[in-house]
Amino acid sequence: MGGRAAIAGGSIGGLFAAAALTRAGWDVVVHERAGVPLAGRGAGIVTHPELVAALQAVDADTADLGVQVQERIAFDQQGRAHARMPYPQVVTSWDRMYQALRVLIPDDRYRLGQALSGFTQDDSGVTLRFENGTEARADLLIGTDGFRSVVRGQIAPDIQPVYSGYVVWRALAEEGDLDPGIRDRVFDVFGMFMPKGTQIVGYPIAGEGNDLRPGHRRYNFVWYVPTEAADLDDMLTDAEGRRHAVSIPPPLVREAVVKRAAQRAAEWLPDVFEHVLARSERPFFTPIYDHMSPDFAQGRVAIAGDAACVARPHVGMGVTKAGGDALALGRHLAGVGPDGVAAALRAYSAERVPAARAAHDRAQMLGRYIFADPATGHNRDGRNNPNQDEILRLTAVADFG
Ligand SMILES: Cc1cc2nc3c(=O)[nH]c(=O)nc-3n(C[C@H](O)[C@H](O)[C@H](O)COP(=O)(O)OP(=O)(O)OC[C@H]3O[C@@H](n4cnc5c(N)ncnc54)[C@H](O)[C@@H]3O)c2cc1C
Repeated sequence: MGGRAAIAGGSIGGLFAAAALTRAGWDVVVHERAGVPLAGRGAGIVTHPELVAALQAVDADTADLGVQVQERIAFDQQGRAHARMPYPQVVTSWDRMYQALRVLIPDDRYRLGQALSGFTQDDSGVTLRFENGTEARADLLIGTDGFRSVVRGQIAPDIQPVYSGYVVWRALAEEGDLDPGIRDRVFDVFGMFMPKGTQIVGYPIAGEGNDLRPGHRRYNFVWYVPTEAADLDDMLTDAEGRRHAVSIPPPLVREAVVKRAAQRAAEWLPDVFEHVLARSERPFFTPIYDHMSPDFAQGRVAIAGDAACVARPHVGMGVTKAGGDALALGRHLAGVGPDGVAAALRAYSAERVPAARAAHDRAQMLGRYIFADPATGHNRDGRNNPNQDEILRLTAVADFG
């Protein structure tokens, strides 16, 4: 059984799906838009037991997965720990996840420089068209082409990402560059700062080359900042005056925008986080968008990972959700031939839409807690957030769906 499967998008979601479908007996080819290997996205990823199980189910190596933290600490604006919660968790990096999955796919099945521009499907298969003018034919197509998915654009054109009202600034600092006094206070825990009006999450990840030795690791800094649409417009405009749609490549962010963020950091943030930001490589920002497709399949075509649904980063579920999608695809397509594809993908969608919805809704709820309550205004001392216990308890925790 099995047949030919095409996957559009070769990041973590695409690799997970490729690995799961290969194990289910399908002959898989991954088509990735980027012309060069993906690397160095420098983002931290929190893990959950479900993610480790998904990696192991596709035979990915989970040894030395990341840094183990034991507890969560909420800092106040003076940089003192004012709330704590024991919560052992392994925190890792995008690079580590990508490499663990990339080695599972043979090079001749992972094709770079193939940006999908569209597809047509008929009774016997799907024809993919690429921007470079080439075509490919398969029995099924999985779109793991991210939150601006071309595949979703065709099967669910009404589903469009909606701006959430805030952006996330991210940065990485080398452990060795941090002042030892600050390092000792913040580095080894899952740290948070959660007044109304802004929020920080920070944790250690491996250094270059998955180096987990103390002194050689990095600190991952995630800072949510409410941003009006007009300000976002300005932030998305590069030095040439060109307004970028949706997000802007980090090197094109204007110096003035980075400076303004640093000024705000000095005014708003506890010394521990201001210091980490000041010692980081150039920070970059991403606007946070929501989208959730009510259906992940149409005929021989399905969507998975961020193409299907983005759960805001508060739940730390993007990779775990992509892994769950991949395993479900593998399970429903195992033992199925080309004729059974549409029914298998319908069953996949029925299983995964509720799981994605649960992560999406939880993340939206946590995201709403960032905004200042008009009654109390911006209370930035980090002590009086009425949602504090919930934020500490539910951030980056997968206890649903
Ligand atoms: C601040 C932040 C923090 C996060 N933290 C976590 C966390 O702690 N834990 C976690 O699990 N997740 C986290 N995530 C999310 C996580 O990174 C993603 O959800 C996950 O990697 C799955 O992504 P994906 O592969 O589905 O999509 P993407 O990573 O968007 O990849 C899509 C791929 O498709 C390619 N592509 C796009 N268009 C085309 C096309 N037309 N043809 C061919 N290829 C195409 C792109 O080049 C890209 O390689 C975080 C995200 C953010 C923004």
